[in-house]
Amino acid sequence: MDYSVRISDEVLESMSLAAIEAYCLGDGNKKNKEKIETLGYIWGFKRVEAEHTVFFISKFSISISALRNSSWVAPNPHALTLKNAFVKRWSPQLTLLGDFHTHPYDDLTDVKRNTGFEFSDSDFIHFKNEDEIWNDSNDQPLMLAMTICRLTRVRDSWATQPRDNVCSYSVGEFRFWVNASVGFLNEDGERDCTGNARSPVFVDLNSRFFNMSGDRVQERLEAI
Ligand SMILES: [Zn+2]
Repeated sequence: MDYSVRISDEVLESMSLAAIEAYCLGDGNKKNKEKIETLGYIWGFKRVEAEHTVFFISKFSISISALRNSSWVAPNPHALTLKNAFVKRWSPQLTLLGDFHTHPYDDLTDVKRNTGFEFSDSDFIHFKNEDEIWNDSNDQPLMLAMTICRLTRVRDSWATQPRDNVCSYSVGEFRFWVNASVGFLNEDGERDCTGNARSPVFVDLNSRFFNMSGDRVQERLEAI
């Protein structure tokens, strides 16, 4: 089984805005401008084929009632239920896909030293225990982490793909990484999820016009 994750431009912009505000302005308390993590929830569409699932994230809502800190963020236990009930009424065509949180780091060295764009062990534990996300997303929930740091030098750069499940891009003096993990039920019916390395997840932010050699949109006439 493998997975592609696509994110609408609007949602990616909103996620980056949430990450950068929490990074630069903290919780808004004037005494505390420390960078903090933040979290939110994602909705959209999912196409499930035999061995491949495509996620498309079209809605993102930051959770302003989460308890936020520089190295952890804890969801309000009622926020997801409340927001999902609202979205079911306002946008009944959408499915709850999962959640999103940020990892703020000082600079590139800090990210590398801490392997900052990876999910932590506690991320995976929390993900497997989020009942509402598993129930509402048909046992294939999605967890996204966005890592952000400040660059010392700003050079010309395009978005890069350090690994299939990690995409990176820069905006001004800030660099961002998006990492994705997909949950599934293992052979024993227990909740499991894809890991950081050797992941079957492809964060597909930049491939719209990549054309694979030999690909054909239309079958040859004689084959129809
Ligand atoms: Zn995390």
